[in-house]
Amino acid sequence: MPSGRSYLARMNRVFSGIQPSGELHIGNYLGAVRNWVALQSQHECIFCIVNLHAITQPYDPRELPARTMEMALGLLAAGLDPDKCTLFVQSHVPEHTELAWALSVVAPKGDLERMTQFKEKSAREETVPAALLNYPVLQAADILLYRANLVPVGEDQLQHLELSREIARRWNARFGEDFFPEPQPLLTSAKRIVGLDGNAKMSKSLGNTIGVLDSPEVIWEKLRPAVTDPARKTRKDPGNPDLCNLFSLHQFFSAPAEVTHVAEQCRTAGWGCLDCKRLLADNMIAALEPIRERAAELKAHPERVRAVLERGAAHCRDLARETMARVRDLMGFVPAAGAH
Ligand code: SF4
Repeated sequence: MPSGRSYLARMNRVFSGIQPSGELHIGNYLGAVRNWVALQSQHECIFCIVNLHAITQPYDPRELPARTMEMALGLLAAGLDPDKCTLFVQSHVPEHTELAWALSVVAPKGDLERMTQFKEKSAREETVPAALLNYPVLQAADILLYRANLVPVGEDQLQHLELSREIARRWNARFGEDFFPEPQPLLTSAKRIVGLDGNAKMSKSLGNTIGVLDSPEVIWEKLRPAVTDPARKTRKDPGNPDLCNLFSLHQFFSAPAEVTHVAEQCRTAGWGCLDCKRLLADNMIAALEPIRERAAELKAHPERVRAVLERGAAHCRDLARETMARVRDLMGFVPAAGAH
């Protein structure tokens, strides 16, 4: 964790969050976490496991602790380095919800109702929880609590980030000071990682993922039946690699010369999809091997994961206290007796 840096004299501060879905899968890894690992050497970075966001969807409270710790372990194994970045669990810093409430007074209800994710998720619910509507306000609070100015996002999160910027502008205008910076997007170049079923985004709840920590056998078991270009009905039918999700995975895991060879073999039906999948599996297994090794080490020492999260939360609580003292002051709250 970075230490001794002045809160106000900083340069760029990056904030990003990830759901405590348990397994870190290659969709999370290629779409976000790999980029976080690079960013931690370029900026001051704060990464958060967003368990307060997770509870806006149906979930089992008995499973949430294990899912949270598993995600923390996965992130550290994937390369987040606690000496270079801060990693913590959202609920360990209660100021997230306090700031969300303070920001909700300037968050336009109409904008919240227009959010694509709200419309999609609420359409699936019989009774729509208020938390689902307020989800983007909590997201704004996550970022603004640390006065972060850069947020790595995919295209699908741009709308929420724009709302965070709007909330920051409105709050600054209402309470008379440019206290919150308007966070800027750091657009990730990675394409959306499609699930092995070829239909939807890779997601644990859809069962179409490959876990970053899956064993070589499991990786092969999952890749073997994965959906490819539907034009390749038989071994002799040529395919179009651009229509095949597995080809996009080759672009992440295979060497450039291999990627060219895969495309040729696909277009000429030089080899079958199974040959292609075998090469992908071998390359993926080799690329993920160091992550699996680090994970095994951390599984043998779970206290190390807990210590990282404790240090992360302590650092974030310090930053959050500083922000909230100013927020309470600007909003006209009488200081509590004994408060400094
Ligand atoms: S040969 Fe490879 S790239 Fe072509 S359709 Fe099959 S799995 Fe996809």
